[in-house]
Amino acid sequence: MMEAHIERFFTIWNEAGLPPCYLVGGYPRNSLLGLAGTDLDVASPAPPQALCALPAPEIVLEERAYGLGTVVVKQRFGDALYVYEYTAFRCDNYGRGGAHTPKKVRFTDDIREDALRRDFTVNALYMGADGTVADPTGRGLAALAEKTIGQVTPETLTQDALRILRMVRFAAELGFTVEQDTWECAKAHIGGLADISRERIRDEFVKILMADTKHGIPGGVLCGLHMLKDLGAFSYIVPALTEGDGMEQNTEYHAYDVLEHSLQACACAPADLVTRLAALLHDIGKPAVFRETGKMVGHDKRGAALALAALNGLRFDKETAGEVGALVGAHMFDLDNRAGRKAVARMIVKLGERQFLRLADVREADFCGSGKGNPALSAGKWRETLRELKEKDAPISLEQLAVNGDDVMRELHIPPGKRVGKILLALQAYALKKPSQNSYKNLVRYAKIINTRENE
Ligand code: ATP
Ligand code: MG
Repeated sequence: MMEAHIERFFTIWNEAGLPPCYLVGGYPRNSLLGLAGTDLDVASPAPPQALCALPAPEIVLEERAYGLGTVVVKQRFGDALYVYEYTAFRCDNYGRGGAHTPKKVRFTDDIREDALRRDFTVNALYMGADGTVADPTGRGLAALAEKTIGQVTPETLTQDALRILRMVRFAAELGFTVEQDTWECAKAHIGGLADISRERIRDEFVKILMADTKHGIPGGVLCGLHMLKDLGAFSYIVPALTEGDGMEQNTEYHAYDVLEHSLQACACAPADLVTRLAALLHDIGKPAVFRETGKMVGHDKRGAALALAALNGLRFDKETAGEVGALVGAHMFDLDNRAGRKAVARMIVKLGERQFLRLADVREADFCGSGKGNPALSAGKWRETLRELKEKDAPISLEQLAVNGDDVMRELHIPPGKRVGKILLALQAYALKKPSQNSYKNLVRYAKIINTRENE
């Protein structure tokens, strides 16, 4: 059964006298699999200008790219607004560079031709107004039943290497395997990723890292990462990671080499992008540091710089890159579980609550990804320390301190400058130790003591 708004969409489409329209791509694929949640892609032989026949204001047309044959169609239905991406049937040739902007577009009214320009057979199924499904490649329904991803033509992946990452992503999200000949083709043409824009690589990579969240199918992230490794795709995504391939580690703590450990750790991490990226990249500094010094000491700091560079290279936003870098830089903290309450509190203040909790997740992912089955050290203790501090209302962040910079300047008659910050940090350390002292009066009194001490 189709949803009421989709039935209504087909009705008004047909009333407008347009040629038959189909849902294509994710909707038919997912609904046949019994999976929910996808955007609505629709297609028909009608040129996009013809969509003006659809009745306003029930239908609003936006982002019209008539030349490319695409229009964003919005449907008002009750109080809701539904968005359809319309594409006129076409046969197109993609230019290199992953821009996904066809070099030349030729429209067609032949559904078979439209199917041939699509990426995978399971993405080339067309669902009509009555719910029946057309399978113009003749292989889509079989692939769906066998849970496989196969390219539509032998040239599909060679024309646009971004499709190789889409292949991995769909396999990871849906729990499908890749058909043998499609796999061989992907492997042979992996070098085409060098022509794809960093942004488009990043977007697919992120979806692979979060694959299990799309349909709630477990195991997808590790499968996706293994596919990337086996295809040699990491050289085009995060090249520094590949140096860990075959780099053996102390077998007392590790069952895997550095790269495999990184992939395992990433897949163990909870579904938060920053945490998963940090787990994936936490040991990225090991090969370089080991090469230079013969030891692993300092791989955390080197790793932070390499992780930041890798994420900047993929055009991640500054916040994400900075947060991942900070976690990589801190991932060796308290590895022997000997840090006391004061040291843990200092790390909480340094990272902030959200990042600190991620660090605990990274520590657990690190142990989980070692393949040795050892329980993670420290993380439980850290969370407990945080819980205690919060229970006592200890000022984990400066905003929670009962005085701010203005108060310090006014009460101590000092000008703005570094000194103000230093005093605030000293007050915070004091109030973390004695949360009951976090009141305006007490802190000002203490600030005056520090101030005179520093003036002496
Ligand atoms: P989902 O929306 O669930 O991620 P989808 O299959 O709908 O999956 P979209 O990216 O929305 O994926 O694309 C819709 C359809 O357009 C695809 O199913 C496929 O048929 C076609 N398509 C999208 N991108 C490409 C591409 N790079 N090459 C060939 N066909 C593509
Ligand atoms: Mg879609």
